[in-house]
Amino acid sequence: MLNGKSATVTGSTSGIGLGVARAFAARGANVVLNGFGDAAEIAKLRKSLGPEHGVSVAYGAADMSKADEVVGMVEQATHDFDRVDILVNNAGVQYTAPVHEFPAERWNAVIAINLSAAFYAIRAALQQMLARNWGRIINIASTHDLIASVHKAAYVAAKHGIVGMTKVVALETATTGVTCNAICPGWVLTPLVQKQIDDLGEREKLAPQAAKTKLLGEKQPSLEFARPSRSPRQRRSCAPRGRRRSGASRCRSTAAGRHNRQSELAP
Ligand code: NAD
Repeated sequence: MLNGKSATVTGSTSGIGLGVARAFAARGANVVLNGFGDAAEIAKLRKSLGPEHGVSVAYGAADMSKADEVVGMVEQATHDFDRVDILVNNAGVQYTAPVHEFPAERWNAVIAINLSAAFYAIRAALQQMLARNWGRIINIASTHDLIASVHKAAYVAAKHGIVGMTKVVALETATTGVTCNAICPGWVLTPLVQKQIDDLGEREKLAPQAAKTKLLGEKQPSLEFARPSRSPRQRRSCAPRGRRRSGASRCRSTAAGRHNRQSELAP
């Protein structure tokens, strides 16, 4: 389905990004992985993922908090596979603290990784997509593009920001074969969320299951986590004719219960 295409997925050594990268490989795309982690584990992942699906898998170690490394990753991906057809801006970090205690360096890091990296990657990749008149840009946002939570000033600001940027890019490419969409997952059980469960348990002296239930209860009435392999349905966003959702925020939230509710906001 995506044979011959090349997908670059940032933050794909773990969690949602890894699920997305696996799904693209399974559909025949060559994949560029990115993210931190144990070098041996990453090498093992590359070695297994490629042959499993008959695709090539590269790895870029770029630190998404550094603009020049983000651009370098896109250039390297273009060099390795001759193209970047699909760009998934997924890398993300979380830090929680009341706003008056929020360390400035943490604010800068969350904004750099969760928001600015997507800008630099899009800027670096868009021209070649436009030249081929085909490209798919998918930004992994969050339900936090629509709502807020206490102690997450930087994360919520970054997620609101990335949806705004998605709308602008979608408008600017609206007459072309390039699409730009955001996916806004609810809670997905990944290392990023496990850390929040652990912190909550420690802070409020809760057993692991009680901490999980309390965290889910804030915004996910189903009280169930989604799984990384199921969260973003990139298949539709990357279909050859691509369903255009220009300027729309595509929200996959379990706020309405077990079944995902999708809502779209006009620009
Ligand atoms: P995760 O911690 O499992 O994965 C994060 C990935 O980003 C890892 O591969 C990590 O190495 C990489 N990363 C972190 N900092 C980086 C940096 N400076 N440079 C390069 N890579 C870096 O987290 P996840 O839950 O899979 O989150 C992925 C995305 O999904 C994030 O943007 C997050 O905000 C979003 N999201 C997650 C949830 C959830 O419930 N898990 C919900 C909504 C949105």
